[in-house]
Amino acid sequence: MTDPRPLTFTRSPLDFSGLERADADWIAARREHPEARVLLLHKGDLATDSAGEPFVVRARETRDLPLDRPGLVFLGVWNGVPWFCAALKPGSVPDGVPFRLAAMKAEADFACLMGRARSLLSWHGRRKFCSNCGAENRPDPGGLKLDCPACGMEHFPRVDPSVIMLPHAGDRCVMGRQASWPPGMYATLAGFMEPGETIEEACARETKEEIGRTVLKAEYIESQPWPFPSSLMIGLIAEIDEGELFPDDDLEDARWFTREEVRALYESEMAKWAPPNFSISRRLIDTWLNRG
Ligand SMILES: [Zn+2]
Repeated sequence: MTDPRPLTFTRSPLDFSGLERADADWIAARREHPEARVLLLHKGDLATDSAGEPFVVRARETRDLPLDRPGLVFLGVWNGVPWFCAALKPGSVPDGVPFRLAAMKAEADFACLMGRARSLLSWHGRRKFCSNCGAENRPDPGGLKLDCPACGMEHFPRVDPSVIMLPHAGDRCVMGRQASWPPGMYATLAGFMEPGETIEEACARETKEEIGRTVLKAEYIESQPWPFPSSLMIGLIAEIDEGELFPDDDLEDARWFTREEVRALYESEMAKWAPPNFSISRRLIDTWLNRG
């Protein structure tokens, strides 16, 4: 059975307030809101308080904290409460919980906040200077845009679309493995989209590059924001021509699997590496299994 729960990082409860957030007065009022909360990250991981819980403070309590630039970044409004995020200066606090582990354990709504916070703060960490002229960027009131005071260029948070797909033919599918994965682990194929191609074309190109087979039909299934650091995983199931596989250098191996073999793999210890609702890879595999 496909896991009925939404994928992690999807169905965010946040209202991003896109029409209001560029207004400095509006953002200031959200910061002054008595319930306003700030989620704190440290080196891309979840900062934790002395009890080991996610480090969430009131907005006014951040004044004495060693925040990295640009300070508070507006996440959105959740159940009437404004939420912000901020990065603590590297090394200013003990290391927290690895982000991936924390996200797997988090309640679904909170995981959406965590993912948005990680992507936005990672973007800020890599966009101190204007990519056009090299001057130092200035954040807009909510931290959702950077303006270059020298050349006037506006910089917006990045999202990098990637295709992720499970190729199949007849009653078998193809999964690959990277050398860095746990021994015996196999999963879907994936790669970044390139300028000038559609989702279907990216799926066909990546499949050809990674296993040397031709996509006959690509079917979109679902997508998932993936905050490592700011991908959008576009999930497909791809019918391919049956034949020998030619794994490229990114893959240590690629193999044809029957449904029985896939089930055996994902009912083994391997399952913990791809929990059912955490990764779209597992969701695509489960979707295909259920069609058999
Ligand atoms: Zn500039």
